[in-house]
Amino acid sequence: MSTLVMKFGGNAVGTIGALTQVLSIVLHEHKRWKQLVLVASAFDGVTDLLYEAANLAQVANQRGFRRIAANLRTRHLAVMEQLPLGAQERSVLQADIDRLLFEMLDECQTISSTPSDALSPQVSDRIVGVGERLSARIIAALLRQNDLRGVAIDATDIIVTDEVHGNAAPVMDLTTQKVRENLLPMMDRDIIPVVTGFIGATRSGKPTTLGRGGSDYTSSILSVCISASELWIWSDVDGMMSTDPREVSEAKVISEMSYSEVAELAYFGARILHARMIRPIQEKRIPLRIKNVFKPQQPGTLIRDTHSAPLERIKAVTHIPGIGLTANRSGALADVIKLVDDTLFSTVGTNAEVMISSQSSSRSFLCFIIPPSVGGLEAIDTSRTALLNNISSLHDTVVWQVEIVSVVTAIGESLDKLLGLNARIMSQLDGVRIIGLAQGPSRCSLSIIVNSEDGEEALRRIHELTISND
Ligand code: ASP
Ligand code: MG
Repeated sequence: MSTLVMKFGGNAVGTIGALTQVLSIVLHEHKRWKQLVLVASAFDGVTDLLYEAANLAQVANQRGFRRIAANLRTRHLAVMEQLPLGAQERSVLQADIDRLLFEMLDECQTISSTPSDALSPQVSDRIVGVGERLSARIIAALLRQNDLRGVAIDATDIIVTDEVHGNAAPVMDLTTQKVRENLLPMMDRDIIPVVTGFIGATRSGKPTTLGRGGSDYTSSILSVCISASELWIWSDVDGMMSTDPREVSEAKVISEMSYSEVAELAYFGARILHARMIRPIQEKRIPLRIKNVFKPQQPGTLIRDTHSAPLERIKAVTHIPGIGLTANRSGALADVIKLVDDTLFSTVGTNAEVMISSQSSSRSFLCFIIPPSVGGLEAIDTSRTALLNNISSLHDTVVWQVEIVSVVTAIGESLDKLLGLNARIMSQLDGVRIIGLAQGPSRCSLSIIVNSEDGEEALRRIHELTISND
């Protein structure tokens, strides 16, 4: 039995043009697969606005969050107006949109009447998931109007998560049971469930979110629960790219990758996939395709187990900021790792991901990153300032330097076996000061730590190796 799960990202659903593409893709694939399941992201930019509304509610800025709710209403109704929907479908949908935004306003109101110092993820989770509820309903209505049996499903009813608000993970046995009980009977009746991405609920029913970009994770979780044959992720890019095309114009689409390569790529900053979505489908060997909603005929990138001999080449390069700590003495690392972890947890709510810790007789060095999915440069800046404050009290005699560095990572299967390739990377970086080197335990990444002003140059030079290897 062949089942295809398709996830549509915010930029693949946010406009009439995109939704028209979605419809034609679903009509086409509906003929080719026995069963379809769709996962919908919020319209482009909507989740950002919802976080803003939550923040405004927390400082009791009524006008602010009301203005956002009004904007969201106008935008969703405008899209709905332009869709080819019948009168009945339109009025039900409009009532749904109004009700959902009213509930969101009500939450904001409650929050603003009990002001607090900072917005907790538990509170923002009550607000930010409404974008997905709106888009899933709009897509389902569009399908129904075109003789497909689309039904919007709120993932809060089927995805049971832990209590880590803002970055929750599914409780797989309970989720599998609920997904099977709810979705399979529908799919058997040729219904196409349109499931909200990004959101879930705890065992006791409190709303949670799976982290920014979490709709990918939703689609991966559902694919595993229903043993999908394939998962396709649609956005507005052509596939996984060999590097960020905004930084290197020669960047190109990677036609095929292994799960480990793509997991490293997501971890080290390729914004295109949620970092935790790969492992579940890797374990079940569910192939994943990344495709452009505006160019459905193009193959995009196929991610699967590669049984063939590993290709001896670098497939992609990324760079992300990290924080480098250098002490003027050895033997200070154990204490500082704890301090880094505690500081990060209290400032940006996450643990440090240590890349390298090393020492010589005269110095200690520690480099860590904050997963890009948790925070970008802003999180790095905040953490660096907090660390500078905390670290001075650690030892009287040790002087620490805390700097932002650039972590440039080359990705390719079995990089560790390719001594020749590693040597080529080194010679390619001739003249760039290398602060540290780390071979990832997945054996398909090599990270090079350089001064932040050298990051782009190092990225560009290593990317040349992906081209010459073609
Ligand atoms: N809408 C959510 C976000 O912007 C989830 C997603 O789009 O994947 O983070
Ligand atoms: Mg995304």
